[in-house]
Amino acid sequence: MKDLGLIQVYTGNGKGKTTASLGLAFRASGHGFKVCMLQFMKDCSDYGEVKAAQYLPGFVVIPVGRHDFVDLADPAPVDIELAGKGWEQAKKTIDSGEYDIVILDEINVAMACGLLPAADVAAFLTAEKRNVEIVLTGRYAPPEIIAIAHLVTEMQEVKHPYNDGVAARQGIDY
Ligand code: ATP
Ligand code: MG
Repeated sequence: MKDLGLIQVYTGNGKGKTTASLGLAFRASGHGFKVCMLQFMKDCSDYGEVKAAQYLPGFVVIPVGRHDFVDLADPAPVDIELAGKGWEQAKKTIDSGEYDIVILDEINVAMACGLLPAADVAAFLTAEKRNVEIVLTGRYAPPEIIAIAHLVTEMQEVKHPYNDGVAARQGIDY
């Protein structure tokens, strides 16, 4: 019996939150675990992780957002709709029994900017003990999520080349 069922959070303003969850997926895949990453607020087939998932048995990456920037201060109705649908898909995925680890990439941002109620997410994740590890990534993890998590790591920016004018780089940032 696999020893799973904890809630992990990777948050903070430094780089490495999505990367950390992908590293976890890589490691877990080595043990034959099944991993599903749902990417909130994203829909890009050019992301390295979307392309690479086919090479890891048991790993799937599914975008549930759209290929455009969400205005965090004033999200469009379509973003609220997509986040709601993504959350419905997340609940089904978690309860499907098909996956050992479910990564909800950028869901913290979706909650923080009002696309999804953090209280609903926290209530679902704590409603029953499941043998599924849940990973929530993204800046601004809401207090309701920090409260129910078993593992919280805050990536803190010390330096980022973006501040020196280096744009997002293929294979490094996406
Ligand atoms: P990564 O996907 O590289 O692990 P992340 O998940 O920690 O980064 P996000 O907040 O999801 O970071 O940001 C997504 C994009 O912004 C990535 O291209 C990432 O490299 C970049 N980024 C991350 N941290 C910073 C930062 N402190 N300043 C500017 N850009 C950043
Ligand atoms: Mg990220």
